[in-house]
Amino acid sequence: MSVTTAEDLLVDELKDIYSAEKQAVRAYPRLAKVVESEELKEALTEHLEQTKGQVERLDRVFEILEKRAGGKTCEGMKGLLQEAFTQAEEIERGPVLDAALIGALQRVEHYEISGYGTASTLAETMGQDEVHDLLAETLQEEKDTDEKLTEVASSVNEEAIHGAEEAEDELDDQDEAEASAPRKSASRSARKKRS
Ligand code: FE
Ligand code: FE
Repeated sequence: MSVTTAEDLLVDELKDIYSAEKQAVRAYPRLAKVVESEELKEALTEHLEQTKGQVERLDRVFEILEKRAGGKTCEGMKGLLQEAFTQAEEIERGPVLDAALIGALQRVEHYEISGYGTASTLAETMGQDEVHDLLAETLQEEKDTDEKLTEVASSVNEEAIHGAEEAEDELDDQDEAEASAPRKSASRSARKKRS
């Protein structure tokens, strides 16, 4: 579609976001499958449901503007999701992959935040109050999701950084326990003799 007016631009931006959201709905279940952290899996599944609601909200926006929703592919989102899938292929499953995917998911949220920010400001300036309110609602959800992912990152990163070390420490502790076991029973029998 050719863009000449501000309204054309708003509709064009919205088509882009619509495509981005649809791609996210298809991608999240695939990413949830390779995630190991339960906390991250939960956050991802929760945001998948929220994203489906965001698509419905956009359907409503297109209804208000009396425009068609489809007809555009968001190349930016396509690239972001492709990068996430490449990481999922190249990194072994575990906390390091989870940490990488949190980064990829936050890039997606930041991308959406800028898209919704642009569109909602434009709608507001045009006096499209209902459209603005719907877009602002989604914008807040994307910001909350970004914050939630930062929270999840603090525990996942901890595991990614210390996970292997802790596992080694545990093995060392087991070795020590085994080595000291005979001494313990010896001292126990020594105590018995004394009593
Ligand atoms: Fe979204
Ligand atoms: Fe999102």
